[in-house]
Amino acid sequence: MAKRDYYEVLGVSKTAGDDEIKKAYRKLAMKYHPDRNPDNAEAEDKFKEASEAYEVLSDSEKRSMYDRAGHSAFEGGFGGGGGGFGGFSAEDIFSQFGDIFGGAFGGGGRQQQHQRRGSDLRYVMELTLEEAVKGIKKTITFTAPAPCDVCDGKGSKNPNDVETCRTCNGAGQVRMQQGFFSVQQTCSTCRGQGKIIKNPCHACHGSGVADRQQTLEVTIPAGVDNGDRVRLTGKGEAIRDGQSGDLYVEVVVREHEIFQRDGADLYMDVPVSIADAALGKELEIPTLDGRVSLKIPEGTQTGKMFRLRGKGVRPVRSSMQGDLLCRIVIETPVNLTSRQRELLKELQISFDGEDSTSSPKKKSFFDRLFD
Ligand SMILES: [Zn+2]
Ligand SMILES: [Zn+2]
Repeated sequence: MAKRDYYEVLGVSKTAGDDEIKKAYRKLAMKYHPDRNPDNAEAEDKFKEASEAYEVLSDSEKRSMYDRAGHSAFEGGFGGGGGGFGGFSAEDIFSQFGDIFGGAFGGGGRQQQHQRRGSDLRYVMELTLEEAVKGIKKTITFTAPAPCDVCDGKGSKNPNDVETCRTCNGAGQVRMQQGFFSVQQTCSTCRGQGKIIKNPCHACHGSGVADRQQTLEVTIPAGVDNGDRVRLTGKGEAIRDGQSGDLYVEVVVREHEIFQRDGADLYMDVPVSIADAALGKELEIPTLDGRVSLKIPEGTQTGKMFRLRGKGVRPVRSSMQGDLLCRIVIETPVNLTSRQRELLKELQISFDGEDSTSSPKKKSFFDRLFD
């Protein structure tokens, strides 16, 4: 099956910026998330496809490789063992996101491993803005390959039934002479496993792994944002005779009714009546954890921003608390009583008076127009 273009998958142009790519991915991830589409194979495929596209396009290095060579840039290395979820290289993720938890997982580069390793898995967790800002413990349930219960991951109930392959002496690879060249090939006797299982376990057919529903409690630290990942070591795909991959819980933050987040800062629109904007007023406005007063001065215009220091978010990798930015939006009065209508008519006449200076912008606009 031909692979779709990553840009096409996310529905963005080749010149799309990081934010646009993130947004497009987020939208698809929400739509096709397995939690929302249980037992829907098509949605699962779409979800995987979008995750893979995002994996590449969100990483400037991988993206430029992809732009140059297309899908062939990742043939072989990419996709891991083809586990239940989209596989990806742990090495890359580690360097990108490992700093979320500082030294907890040790810093920097890992040892190059020759041991077989299961794929890393990704779980997308949807959070409210409040949950992301304050941090939360959540229980997740997912199905992934885990060591088989019956044979304890060995592939056979009786350990004596597992023999080292004689063709390759357990290496899984054999050297073949082809003309002048000596070529390394996967051993065909054991299919690269290095072992032969005489009486395969009936439950896992010798694979040593079986899909199992797993429930884990995940601690999401305060201040996470879209795209941040929490790594659960060894909770990824299990494989026989190898190390399990890791599970990455990726955060997707739901849109909030009032606040929009940009890094450490929160933005909100504050609707204000014409009278309050003209005369000035002390308003009570919501923050993420309560209320705060905001004094708007006389003559405040629509679009005016007020910054409330320290009322924003403390991002996970920062010690600095952001600000809350309040944008004033003047609300034209509607559903007037006859008394209000009367008063406004009076005001209207007064505003339009010959020597009124109450609307300087409007005045200069029409003066210029009729000049
Ligand atoms: Zn072999
Ligand atoms: Zn088994």
